[in-house]
Amino acid sequence: MSEHEFAKVVVNRPVYGNDGVFTYAVPVNLRGKVVPGSVVLIPFGKQQTTGCVISLGAEVPPQIEVKQIVGLVEEIPPVSVESIRLARWMASRYLCTLREALSAVYGPSGKRRKREVFFWPSGDFAEILAQLETLKAPAQARVLSTVAAQPGISRRSLLREAGVGGKAVEALIKKGLITEFEQSLPGVFEETPPVLQEPPTLSPEQTAVLEEIRLAIEAKNHRVFYLYGVTGSGKTEIYLQATAAALASGRQAVILVPEIALAHQMIHQFKARFGNLVAVTHSAMVHGERRDQWERVRRGEARVVIGARSAVFAPTADLGLIVVDEEHEPAYKQEQAPRYHARETALARAALTGAAVVLGSATPALESIARCLSGRYRQLRLTGRIDGRSLPGVRIVDLREEFRSGTVSLFSRLLADRIREKLRRREQILLFLNRRGFAAFVLCQACGYVIRCPNCDIALTYHQPETLLCHFCHYRTRYLARCPRCGNPKLGRYGAGTQRVQEEASALFPEARVLRMDAETTARRGSHASILETFRTGEADILIGTQMVAKGLDIPGVTLVGVINADTTLLLPDFRAAERTFQLLYQVSGRAGRGSLPGEVIIQSHCPEHYAVRFSSRQDVESFVRRELALRRRFGYPPYTSMVRVVMSSGEEERVARQAEKFGRVVRELTSDENAVLGPAPCPFGKLKGLYRWHVILRGKRGQAVRELCSEALKHFARTRISKVRITVDVDPQNML
Ligand code: ADP
Ligand code: ZN
Repeated sequence: MSEHEFAKVVVNRPVYGNDGVFTYAVPVNLRGKVVPGSVVLIPFGKQQTTGCVISLGAEVPPQIEVKQIVGLVEEIPPVSVESIRLARWMASRYLCTLREALSAVYGPSGKRRKREVFFWPSGDFAEILAQLETLKAPAQARVLSTVAAQPGISRRSLLREAGVGGKAVEALIKKGLITEFEQSLPGVFEETPPVLQEPPTLSPEQTAVLEEIRLAIEAKNHRVFYLYGVTGSGKTEIYLQATAAALASGRQAVILVPEIALAHQMIHQFKARFGNLVAVTHSAMVHGERRDQWERVRRGEARVVIGARSAVFAPTADLGLIVVDEEHEPAYKQEQAPRYHARETALARAALTGAAVVLGSATPALESIARCLSGRYRQLRLTGRIDGRSLPGVRIVDLREEFRSGTVSLFSRLLADRIREKLRRREQILLFLNRRGFAAFVLCQACGYVIRCPNCDIALTYHQPETLLCHFCHYRTRYLARCPRCGNPKLGRYGAGTQRVQEEASALFPEARVLRMDAETTARRGSHASILETFRTGEADILIGTQMVAKGLDIPGVTLVGVINADTTLLLPDFRAAERTFQLLYQVSGRAGRGSLPGEVIIQSHCPEHYAVRFSSRQDVESFVRRELALRRRFGYPPYTSMVRVVMSSGEEERVARQAEKFGRVVRELTSDENAVLGPAPCPFGKLKGLYRWHVILRGKRGQAVRELCSEALKHFARTRISKVRITVDVDPQNML
């Protein structure tokens, strides 16, 4: 008899007992075929479902009745043993279920239909609008507007959403108004054979950096390098040549980018160097296409994978290198279960496989700085820009002075003047609003005073009736209508959305063509790219945007970048507010003067003396880091502590508050560390999608201990909890809202 009579299976159902792991008997005909990583069909309760085998064994399990595996779903096991180990790591690191972790490592699901057709509008928006007016057949008009709204829509969805038959679609193709493709995304993602390019000769600095990385790759040494250098210092060239080194040693490379839509240039460079060995995975692809790319990697046809965070699970057989570009970006954290951080997961995976890791950024995350300082990362530096171009001049406008001199506009006199000047010279302007203003922060417009929590250093927010509240520890104090520092009676809510900026810009500069790019205008697939294209080709003078425009955007015509208000990010109720502000301002400053014309940057702020604003305007990372680390240490924040954020939500406010209080008590009873718990407090976004939200934040010097404390507390809490309250656990939260 074969030794593997029993298999441990993670059942693909939301079950809470046994961590979702159950033992099944392997029938004789499947012995040797069912292996760890196999997806199998199993009886579960009264039904059949699928599950993933995570181990095999001969011992008789203690269950009374052992059911038998019914069949194999795929002949080749879709999950590797390495992936199972990574999933186990994820489950313990992120306090998620093995099922959630396995579904992440399994990768995109779904099969591609044989011949799937997608539609794109043939002209630009103006043309389409004009055509829409002339179309007399309402069915065709519906098809055209649907395609225009959702470029890349599949035939099936198109027919369903437009509610028409195939005839209207064919008619529009004949008229040349829409085009059909067999692929969902034409453009840089096309499989056109790229023109291969020779690598350039490295600078002496680059040579030294590459040499260290190459040695680690060749020695199959799991080393972590931190490549620290400004934009244009030649980091991408290092990624390219390190990838070449991994391929030369017979292994593969994974390149992670924060957002694939902003990585066109990098993808292009990799394809020009490695041709069809490159696989790109991104969320704009339909599942079937992503699975196709995944399969190319598994079969070894593709040996270089570029993608956003989930590409960290790419099924490479023998991984030699993982690159995490712009490692500080919050986009690397998945905001749904499993709530993993792609950078941390990359480190864990590389440790399992003996791969080298290269993390790169000009503005490192504070967590990464701490690891560089402790020697866990080897820091490598690129000090200059390859093209020798200087950074743009940055000026800070003190909005308090504007306020005192009676300016009521969102545009200071200086910014308005510079915009007029640029418009006269037919140069382009980028206006940046850090994010949608957080509704209720309190700031004195006259002196810039911000009321902060004495315990947490977090900006307090206004709540009715007349209360200021800390969303971390629930500290409360009475709202003062007058500024306690300067006596100005205008202490209050402040902030504006992109829409208001657009309205004011159009009123102030009636001759300018103004575009807006934010969550609202880019909600539709493809609109992000089309807005950028309109701006790039010079069809607009001013682009107004949220952080979307801050990253990766490289438009040579832009010579002025204006930050409407640096304070909106600075005052977020989040201990990373200063770090995020610094990174955004630093990045946004790099957007000006990328072409042949020199650039200038104007940052408006009520808190111009704040170190995040001051140091970012001088591009002084070191000084910022020194100040920020000192504060983090004093208030017990990462990187000096690890955090777990537990969010409770429910349709009933009373209930969620009571449960959060109870959970807080349970945690406090389990620990002697009085700094281990913050809260419970209402989340800054206290109500989302009809659910009231409260959070409790656990923290401690050792991550492992904090996670164990959280698990323990959740177990105790489970006995008495009310089922109608939803609990989410976020380890190393990147978002405190
Ligand atoms: P980063 O990734 O740090 O922004 P890149 O690697 O993209 O920098 O380099 C910036 C520019 O300099 C690119 O146009 C790149 O092709 C070029 N470049 C990089 N290294 C070299 C080199 N050794 N010789 C010539 N050009 C280089
Ligand atoms: Zn507080």
